[in-house]
Amino acid sequence: MGRTKHFLLEMFKILPVIFMLTVVIEAWIPKEVIVKKFGENSGFSGNTLSLVLSSISAGPIYAAFPIAKMLLKKGASVTNIVIILNSWAVIKVPMLANEAKFLGVEFMAVRWVLTVISIVIMGYFISLIIKKEDLPGLEALDQTKIHFEINEDYCIGCSICAKFAPQVFEMVDDKAKINYVPTNQSKIELVLSSVDKCPTKAIMFENYEVGSE
Ligand code: SF4
Repeated sequence: MGRTKHFLLEMFKILPVIFMLTVVIEAWIPKEVIVKKFGENSGFSGNTLSLVLSSISAGPIYAAFPIAKMLLKKGASVTNIVIILNSWAVIKVPMLANEAKFLGVEFMAVRWVLTVISIVIMGYFISLIIKKEDLPGLEALDQTKIHFEINEDYCIGCSICAKFAPQVFEMVDDKAKINYVPTNQSKIELVLSSVDKCPTKAIMFENYEVGSE
């Protein structure tokens, strides 16, 4: 009973901080940055960054799940998410310091090296089996069933959409125009993010599979 109470209290203390952190990352870190740093083409530097950031993180592993989901939605690869979750769970710096204290530096160092190698292999292996579209909330949209357009009467020419998704939107005479209709999932996601960010809701997006959004 005492342990359950302690666990619940810990959750109530940590989760609000994690949700706030998730919202801050969601709102302030552009999707392009996440795709570049943690996306499919981020390669060795993306793997290393995932490993380092989660190693210096704080908090229990369940705190990592909402952050992982948000990073996936913004373009991180499955490989890097696996690396983040595993590093968060088993090779955090404070944990390594304690391990060295009780079991010795040599033990800690060998375990760290073997664990890192295993984590990276696991990341690539899982990405072969699990695709992002298989995960709940990340299913691919059917490109033949979506439609979007700009209501010029609502557009105030703030150019947020053109800055956020320059491949899709352009500014002409202080009004946003659709420059290119995306056909791949990552660009469609940029349109969806632009719909969210448009201050006047001038970008209308319809998904005929589920009705208007
Ligand atoms: S974000 Fe909205 S209001 Fe701003 S330019 Fe784009 S469509 Fe117009």
